[in-house]
Amino acid sequence: MSLPIIGLTTSRSTNEAGIPLIATTEAYVQAILGAGGSPLLIPVGLSDSQLIEVYSHLQGLLFIGGGDVDPALYGGIPSSHINDVDPVRDHLELVLVQRAIKDGRPFFGICRGIQVINVALGGKLYTDIGQQHVGAIRHDYFPGFPRNLIVHNIEVIPGSLLAGLVRVPLLPVNSLHHQGISVVAPSLRTIGFSPDGLIEAVELPEHPFGLGVQWHPEWLTDQTSMQAIFRGFVEAAGKIIL
Ligand code: MN
Repeated sequence: MSLPIIGLTTSRSTNEAGIPLIATTEAYVQAILGAGGSPLLIPVGLSDSQLIEVYSHLQGLLFIGGGDVDPALYGGIPSSHINDVDPVRDHLELVLVQRAIKDGRPFFGICRGIQVINVALGGKLYTDIGQQHVGAIRHDYFPGFPRNLIVHNIEVIPGSLLAGLVRVPLLPVNSLHHQGISVVAPSLRTIGFSPDGLIEAVELPEHPFGLGVQWHPEWLTDQTSMQAIFRGFVEAAGKIIL
């Protein structure tokens, strides 16, 4: 039997020679491979019709981390901390979220990924947690910190998709974000919080697998709980017949 094909979103950048690149962080690729999936990159810049053609070959979608979502898409408060906005990437990912929901296709969002899912479904974001979330602890452990540095816990809501995968009520995690969910989309269920009450995990009820997390499990795959999240996602994708 062939491995479930997981599409990974990408970002655009330029290398030292000025050559434009489309890329993803290798840790996501390794996490999908480690969970028994077959990773395939979805290039930023595809037209909608090209995107739907690529999408038709994918059994699951991984929305990776990256720059900030354009605040104009959700009426975000202006902040000098907003960085790396790419409206073309935003559009592609919003189309993908909506398509995956319509088709019952498994999807998993990490960091920017949970934010894209929330915005696609009508939620809002803090454009900067430190400036806008009352009582916020520090969440932006970058740059200059190991990507796998454990800095706070996640309280996992019992009975949720996440609880069924990780099987612990408190999950120690890394934190590499300066934005987060301020208003959760009406159709999403909040299933994990950090100690300052920030929403750090959501699921889409009545969907085969619709999960978003604010931390970065791809850097923590030495933990069985994080492996279980990726495995659960890839297993759900494996049930999709294209
Ligand atoms: Mn955090």
